[in-house]
Amino acid sequence: MKKNSEIIIDRKLNKDDLIVITGAGGFIGGSLARYFHDLGYTRIRGVDRKPLPDWYQRVPGVECLCMDLSDNANAIRAAEGAIEVYNLAADMGGMGFIEHFRVECLRSILVNTNMIEASYRAGAHRYFFSSSACAYNTDLQKDANVRALKETDAYPAMAERGYGWEKLVSEMFCEEYWVERGLETHVARFHNIFGPNGTWFGGREKAPAAMCRKVLEALDTGNLAINIWGDGSQTRSFCFIEDCVLGIDQIMHCDQLIATPINLGSSELISVNALVGMVEDIAGVKLQRSYDLGAPKGVAGRNSDNTFIEKVLDWEPKTPLRTGMEKTYAWIAEQFADRKAGKRVVKD
Ligand code: NAD
Repeated sequence: MKKNSEIIIDRKLNKDDLIVITGAGGFIGGSLARYFHDLGYTRIRGVDRKPLPDWYQRVPGVECLCMDLSDNANAIRAAEGAIEVYNLAADMGGMGFIEHFRVECLRSILVNTNMIEASYRAGAHRYFFSSSACAYNTDLQKDANVRALKETDAYPAMAERGYGWEKLVSEMFCEEYWVERGLETHVARFHNIFGPNGTWFGGREKAPAAMCRKVLEALDTGNLAINIWGDGSQTRSFCFIEDCVLGIDQIMHCDQLIATPINLGSSELISVNALVGMVEDIAGVKLQRSYDLGAPKGVAGRNSDNTFIEKVLDWEPKTPLRTGMEKTYAWIAEQFADRKAGKRVVKD
């Protein structure tokens, strides 16, 4: 299997072709804008509905448009002149958000229908859609010792209520725009992406960032306790952001993956309890654990089956969880200190 440094991607893209990234004020979109900027692409347009000061990353030279893409006129403006469109805009968050705000999650379909049509009309060469493991059949995820999910497990469909169905239907748009209209579409099903520059407080944060913050709060207050959602036995895999952006690039530029949803996730499974233990170890502390059994906890277990991605790309996300968590913890610790000092930090 290829190492990251051995990957060569034929993008069929000029350095000054316009790359449009929606959701660029958020975690993955912002990281993708930086990734293409660092590769030397000179025309990148980031779009997000958040006001500019709230964007997680500001990448030099990237055109920033603050617009709500659920409005069709804005989507048309966003896609104007695009050669490639990466649609990462969605109203989303961790389990606490997606279990409580299903309508908001479902309404992201407006962004997706607007953006794919606008991209098609703008004559974009390629369109990327960020789907999710939440599109998978929830009946297959009732056991913590879960069988890893492979791409065919999305059907028969029983997606996560709200968020998962929005993703599944939007995937369907990608498939039909290719079949009927010839728009080249690519779809990745992300499995729990984490890393620096993501949401770490405010209610939309996901488990890895929430754990880091809770451990930092315990250290800060001297109350050496941590509250865990569920009984901690639920299992997940977590994919580091650097693997995620590299995976997006490869998937977008792979002819075998046109209109073919593919997992983009790590296959390193861990329980929430073990994840807490890992963060405690990184922070050099041991906390008293309590469990909130009524809190949102999602499916019992979920892992990414990477057989397909290994076969097609000869690659899979392989940053060890511990390495990614060390970097994430260090970044959140910095943010935490900055917030305490009254400085502006990445926020929801
Ligand atoms: P994020 O919340 O950090 O970023 C999403 C961005 O989209 C936000 O900045 C938000 O302001 C913007 N947005 C929402 N609605 C908009 C609208 N109507 N118009 C314009 N902008 C809008 O989330 P993320 O983690 O970066 O996720 C990016 C994509 O990846 C999303 O589609 C998400 O569903 C998908 N995904 C993420 C994960 C993960 O673990 N982070 C897992 C599966 C799928």
